[in-house]
Amino acid sequence: MKLAVLSRNPRLYSTRRLVEAATQREHQVRVIDPLRCYMSIATSNPEIHYKGQRLEGFDAVIPRIGASITFYGTAVLRQFEMLGTYPLNESQGISRSRDKLRSMQLLSREGVGMPATGFAHSPDDTDDLLQLVGGAPVVIKLLEGTQGIGVVLAETRKASSSVIQALRGLKAHFLVQEFVEEAGGADVRCLIIGGKVVAAMKRQGREGEFRSNLHRGGSAELVRITPAERATATKAAKVLGLNVCGVDILRSNSGPVVMEVNSSPGLEGIERASGKDVAGRIIEFIERHRKPGKTGTRGRRG
Ligand code: ADP
Repeated sequence: MKLAVLSRNPRLYSTRRLVEAATQREHQVRVIDPLRCYMSIATSNPEIHYKGQRLEGFDAVIPRIGASITFYGTAVLRQFEMLGTYPLNESQGISRSRDKLRSMQLLSREGVGMPATGFAHSPDDTDDLLQLVGGAPVVIKLLEGTQGIGVVLAETRKASSSVIQALRGLKAHFLVQEFVEEAGGADVRCLIIGGKVVAAMKRQGREGEFRSNLHRGGSAELVRITPAERATATKAAKVLGLNVCGVDILRSNSGPVVMEVNSSPGLEGIERASGKDVAGRIIEFIERHRKPGKTGTRGRRG
C-alpha cells in the first residue's frame, strides 16, 4: 500500500512508530504536514498539492491532527476522502470528538455513562448550574484546554462560583462536572482499534494531584479492565464513529464514566505500559479494511 501520515512532525513518537510499522510491513509511507498542503476544489476534480507537487495515488491516510490545527487539518483530510483515499479515522469523526460539548451530547444520547455535566454560556444563575451537577465539589473545565491545563477542582460552593464568575468575565467556554472523587486521581485509557480495546493503561496523578495526565507528572501502568469498562469504551468509539481512538474512563461508584474520547491518541504511553505493538495493529487494521472510496465524505453522508 501507499500510505500518508498527516502529521506536523515526523520526529514525534507516534508518527515515527507508524512509519516504522508500515515500513516493516513493506508499505510505502510518507509523512505529510497538513498545514503545507494546499488544495483546489474544482467541480468533480479535487486536488491536493504539497511542496509544488500534486499528491495522488495514496491507498490510505492516517490522520495525526493536533487539537490546535483541527480546522485546517480536517479540511485536508476531507480532501483526501474526496479523492477516494481510505481514512483511518474520518474527518467527520475527528471534528465530532474535538468538540467536547457535541461529543458529550452524542454520548449521553446513546446512553454512555458519563459524569453529571452542565454547560452554559453566560449563566446568571451560578447556583442553579452547580445544583444541576450535584453541587460542590465540582470540576470546571475550559473547553479549549488539553493536557489537563484549564481543569480546576473547586472544592466549595464559594470557590466554584468565583471560578465560574472569573471565566464568565473572560468570556471563556467551560463545562462544570461532578467531581468523581472515588477515582482517586486515576483514570483508565482504553486504546480502541476497529471496535476492540487492544490495550489499556491506568494513569495515576502524582501525590496530591487529581489530574492523571502524564504531562502533569502522572504515571502509567498496565491495567485489566472490567467487561463494563470494555463495553463503555467500545460504545463511545462507535457513537463518535472512530476506528482508532483513546477513550478515557473514570472508575466511579456507579460504574465506568467516559471523560473524553481522543481521536489522535498518543502511542508512547500505551505502548510502553502494555508492551504491545499498537502501531503495528493500526497498520494491520488498514490492511484489512481499506477499500478505495470507502469514506463517508464520498458517499451519501457528506
Ligand atoms: P484534558 O482534556 O485537558 O486532559 P480532562 O478532562 O481529561 O482534561 O481532565 C484531566 C484530568 O483530570 C483527567 O485525566 C482526570 O484524571 C481528572 N478529571 C477530569 N474530570 C474529572 C472529574 N469529573 N472527576 C474526577 N477527576 C477528573
